[in-house]
Amino acid sequence: MLEEVGMVVDKSTWNFSSIFATQGLWFWINIMLLIIILFWVLSIIWVAKDIMARTSKLSYQVLCVFLVTFLSPILGLPIYWVIRPIGFVRDRLPWREAQVMNLVVCYNCGTLNPKDHECCLACGEALKIKCKQCGKDFPHSYGYCHFCGAPNID
Ligand SMILES: [Zn+2]
Ligand SMILES: [Zn+2]
Repeated sequence: MLEEVGMVVDKSTWNFSSIFATQGLWFWINIMLLIIILFWVLSIIWVAKDIMARTSKLSYQVLCVFLVTFLSPILGLPIYWVIRPIGFVRDRLPWREAQVMNLVVCYNCGTLNPKDHECCLACGEALKIKCKQCGKDFPHSYGYCHFCGAPNID
């Protein structure tokens, strides 16, 4: 009879410290697991949104989402930060528009550079390549060498 009364009193004074005392270790392991799963799911959603804004290549998108899903965010996120494209798709102007403005597009990061620049002002990548036919330098983003008309193929 006395024990029953004691239990009723216990339940009515359910607070934070009594949860810790009565639920014990398992309760906190479950809370931790919940936080980890939430972090995992949010990381996958963030990577999916971020990679879709940075590239339109499906294979690249799938690879990055797989990376963070199966390697866990702890391993996957740092790898993703290293391999993801620097610029966003929306910041990349089509080369035709850039051409009119006397600019060239960096093929690495998409930043617009003045035509006389040798290297990209944003990422340092070389903007010009040597023509295989005439040997002169022309911007990497050109479809053809503007000296001799040879196609820009790597
Ligand atoms: Zn660049
Ligand atoms: Zn040429």
